[in-house]
Amino acid sequence: MNVFEAIREKGITARQAAEHCGIKVNRNSMAVCPFHKDKNPSMKIDRRYFCFGCGEKGDAIDFVAKFYGLGKKEAALQIALDFGITFEENRGRKPPPKRKRQLSPEQRFERAEKKCFRVLSDYLCCLRDWNEKYAPHTAEEEWHPLFCEALEKKDHIEYLLDILLYAPLSERVELVTDYGEEVLRIERRLEQCAVGAEGGVGKNNGKDGAGITAGNMV
Ligand SMILES: [Zn+2]
Repeated sequence: MNVFEAIREKGITARQAAEHCGIKVNRNSMAVCPFHKDKNPSMKIDRRYFCFGCGEKGDAIDFVAKFYGLGKKEAALQIALDFGITFEENRGRKPPPKRKRQLSPEQRFERAEKKCFRVLSDYLCCLRDWNEKYAPHTAEEEWHPLFCEALEKKDHIEYLLDILLYAPLSERVELVTDYGEEVLRIERRLEQCAVGAEGGVGKNNGKDGAGITAGNMV
């Protein structure tokens, strides 16, 4: 419960607050208004207050704020202090969530394009590497799955990267849109390979570990 809720719950009236400020309130709940040059009591003050002379009005917090020239929060804290009201600021309340910075469509595209380029470049590096590393040495040798993948994908990935590097914006937008999911798949594929590399995958013909199988990932 914050200080405002605590004061509301205690039901502190404008009259109580005003009297605490030294304002005399008569039997008719009228007081000399402290907010304008008032000779006769022209402020009606009870749960809330209203001045028939100057039009000032509000509740206990408004009164104290106006009387002492405080902000509403400060006034509420003053009342809590004056009336011995306990409250727990922010207890059990989560801090307001940080707002995510809103990106413009251009910024979003730029990000997506950068990611696309990075992932495809990384993948191409792998493919080129596999193409060399796993090339069969004899005609009878069974082709390594990574070599197959390299053969199958290398040109296509090079082609996509060419578009990202040299094509006009409209084509790049199209590519980033069309290949978004594929880029995500490639990204996961690269993560698998990274994990696999640590575990020495590649020496076991890709039958376990990173689960490398050519051609079914992209
Ligand atoms: Zn007044």
